[in-house]
Amino acid sequence: MPGHRVLVVEDDHGLRDVLARGLRQAGFEVTTVADGSTALRTARPGEVDGVVLDIGLPDADGRDVCVALRARGIDVPVLFLTARGALGDRLSGFASGGDDYLPKPFAFPELVARLTALLRRAVDQVTVVGDLELDPVSHALLCGDSRVALSPTEFRLLARLIGAPGAVVRRHELVTAGWPHGAIVSENTLDQYVSKLRRKLAEVGSDHGIEAARGVGFRLV
Ligand code: CA
Repeated sequence: MPGHRVLVVEDDHGLRDVLARGLRQAGFEVTTVADGSTALRTARPGEVDGVVLDIGLPDADGRDVCVALRARGIDVPVLFLTARGALGDRLSGFASGGDDYLPKPFAFPELVARLTALLRRAVDQVTVVGDLELDPVSHALLCGDSRVALSPTEFRLLARLIGAPGAVVRRHELVTAGWPHGAIVSENTLDQYVSKLRRKLAEVGSDHGIEAARGVGFRLV
């Protein structure tokens, strides 16, 4: 998807250049880094739309880099590059909705196709209910002429609630929607996010609110 910003994290110099050149030709805006620590210093929430992430990095396991990126609020799709045959249980178990894996060596068109599919899936989640609309590109909540920025996690939590208006969404369903697979999220953390969303719903002047179903979950009312 042209115009999208992709961070490429790959220590192999030759492959990194091939990826950068090819992705730019395909219309992406590309930033390249060679290791995990530089990736973490470089990536900022809202400034990257997707990550191509080598698992075998010199300073870290790419999966751990992904966890660290998520922890910094970078909740965009990640396409992992991995040596063929290295797809073990841990790897497959790690997969979250926004992730895919591509074994090396790969045909470049396949990388572009997978990356585009991941980005499109993320962008297709346009959600509207009543006076509310979520803009998946800018992660904004819109209500009439008002808009407020959401963090990626807030966006996903609210999208989950909006997807089932009036119905109670269980806590674990919200955690699954809002955080990467396997993330440990305390009840308190989820409550804090719901509080932030309530404030933002009020801020845009929506008639909607989030009601707690005690001990079970939350619903959009
Ligand atoms: Ca490598």
